[in-house]
Amino acid sequence: MSRSLAIFGATGTIGDNALNLVDQHRERFRVGVLSAHSNTQKLADLARKYSPDVLVIGTSEGREKLRQDLPDFKGDILVGEAGLLAAAAHKVDVAVLAIVGFAGLAPAMVCAAQGGILALANKEALVAAGPLLMRTASDNNTQILPVDSEHNAIYQLLQVQTQETFHKSIEKIVLTASGGPFRQFSLADMAQVTPAQAVAHPNWDMGAKISVDSATLMNKGLELIEARYLFDIDPDRLDVLVHPQSIVHGLVYFNDGSVLAQKACPDMRVPLAYCMAYPERIASGVAPLDLAAQGRLDFEAADRDRFACLALAEAAMQADGDAPCVLNAANEIAVAAFLDGQIGFASIGDVVDAVLQSHQAGAVDSLEAIVAADAGARHAAQQQIKTMR
Ligand code: NAD
Ligand code: MG
Repeated sequence: MSRSLAIFGATGTIGDNALNLVDQHRERFRVGVLSAHSNTQKLADLARKYSPDVLVIGTSEGREKLRQDLPDFKGDILVGEAGLLAAAAHKVDVAVLAIVGFAGLAPAMVCAAQGGILALANKEALVAAGPLLMRTASDNNTQILPVDSEHNAIYQLLQVQTQETFHKSIEKIVLTASGGPFRQFSLADMAQVTPAQAVAHPNWDMGAKISVDSATLMNKGLELIEARYLFDIDPDRLDVLVHPQSIVHGLVYFNDGSVLAQKACPDMRVPLAYCMAYPERIASGVAPLDLAAQGRLDFEAADRDRFACLALAEAAMQADGDAPCVLNAANEIAVAAFLDGQIGFASIGDVVDAVLQSHQAGAVDSLEAIVAADAGARHAAQQQIKTMR
């Protein structure tokens, strides 16, 4: 029996990789739902190729365009956030959530209420609403499998642990970071970098937002918060290790001195294959890891002075409550402003810092509260950016 899939954010980098796995295993997967925000052309091409039951696009103009381009399409074409939420309630075996940013949270909440597998690439949902999302999934028997490579590594390394042995025997969880394109830049050099330099990641081919986050190391900070909620682990037992080759993705330190590490070539098809076929393993098309050819693996400590965003995320993780949500919202606005040429690279951290400083801590007990905290922080970040121009 083939597995039905929904791919939210099908036109992005993660979407491309998930569909590449579908191409390699056509007998195993059937595509039920595909969503895109604005790229109607690409979504129409995907609809012709995969014949899903449901398409979702950002606007009604987009729907008109799809109707014209796809005269023979018999399925539903849904629009906007309401369309995404309706599509997320469509029963599938595996939902791959690859929308970027806070926009992924509401559909993730609906997916988490459906049962089945939620292959979660969108880290911002866990950062903004980790406890709520995890509780919703566990109340509804939905298995959240992390697509993010470091978390997927840790998930694999924790396979034999139970709740009890986890808390007794695990000392520390470490996420590796490539260090991004500016790993060796001075603060003065970093102040000059352009959006084009920031999106050119040395090891991974990713969307623009996560590429900038990788360059500031905010991505690693978001990932610490993601791990904190995903694995229900105390912030003091989470750490980051810079590893420029991106071969080791995560490490688990046990109390007996044993350290397990997961390794793979840096290609998102590895963690996606794990999530999409779980609990089976399937070929991903990724070249086998050749450690002799690789020769060496390097590691170094992360520098929180040059990469202030990592320290800001760690502080928000410690503060808990709605601080991670506020951090994420301010960062999304600051990254968009940087990509748009409004602020410099070094100002991304300044915007996030200023918004966190002026923030009054709040609770995150409902989706409404989180949406309000997100909106407030976006507004504050925009105001802050105005003072910087
Ligand atoms: P991307 O920018 O390449 O693609 C984003 C997708 O989301 C597109 O399909 C787009 O249409 C859709 N989208 C954008 N804004 C939307 C909105 N407001 N509403 C609905 N849909 C919207 O991004 P990506 O690199 O594929 O990353 C997707 C997510 O996966 C991010 O949260 C990222 O942090 C996470 N992730 C990505 C990688 C990677 O290697 N690319 C690795 C780990 C985690
Ligand atoms: Mg990652």
